[in-house]
Amino acid sequence: MRKHIVAGNWKMNNNHSETHQLLSDLKQQTKSSNAEVMVAPTYVNLQYAVSELGGTDIEVIAQNMHFADNGAYTGEVSANMLNSIGVKTVILGHSERRAYFNETDESLAKKVDQTLANGLRSIFCFGEELADRKAGNQEAVVESQIKNALFHLEASAWQHIVLAYEPVWAIGTGETATPEQAQDMHAFIRKTLRDKYGDEVAENTTILYGGSVKPNNAKEIFGKPDVDGGLIGGASLKAEDFFAIVNAF
Ligand code: PEP
Repeated sequence: MRKHIVAGNWKMNNNHSETHQLLSDLKQQTKSSNAEVMVAPTYVNLQYAVSELGGTDIEVIAQNMHFADNGAYTGEVSANMLNSIGVKTVILGHSERRAYFNETDESLAKKVDQTLANGLRSIFCFGEELADRKAGNQEAVVESQIKNALFHLEASAWQHIVLAYEPVWAIGTGETATPEQAQDMHAFIRKTLRDKYGDEVAENTTILYGGSVKPNNAKEIFGKPDVDGGLIGGASLKAEDFFAIVNAF
């Protein structure tokens, strides 16, 4: 059976003392669902978070990484560096990185390859913009993002890939896809996987929804059969809200 996951993307928020506070608050929370829980602090606080959350069942994950092994890439961080501090999962292709840092399907394909070469798992993000949805092109956009970045992979690699459907128009806007819109797209994504790789990959791949998930809407969204969890931005910055979402399963 595929895993349920709730991952918090802290983005460029929380200095060191704020990180300390949020980690302490998270440790006070009680999990009453079967979801795997992850949080993605900024790089400067990553190692600290790994040590603070050691012994809990909250996994610390990264928000991004470079596609090269190492070398002259000022400001970048490699898969090997993440691995060496105990970070085993990395978010790739978030729409903010695609929009502000020119990430493309091609560079993301290289990043995915790099995660696999280093034994990391990726949470691969994609999703259409508002104009795509208004034009009825959302499925074509999503299909091409998945195909271009991921369809060179062998079936066996998919055990290391989590998908995160994040319609750009719903991220940080307070506007959520309806549970039906999320379900329709997740079912389409699963069909796309089935057509290429067959039932096993399609049924075992976890597909998260992201876009203004909050404590008051999580249960309805997670209630849909093809929605296996969430990638949470704003609501992951408050431990109580985040765990209300975790426990919505
Ligand atoms: C995100 O950034 O991945 C996200 C889903 O943000 P928010 O929950 O704030 O919409």
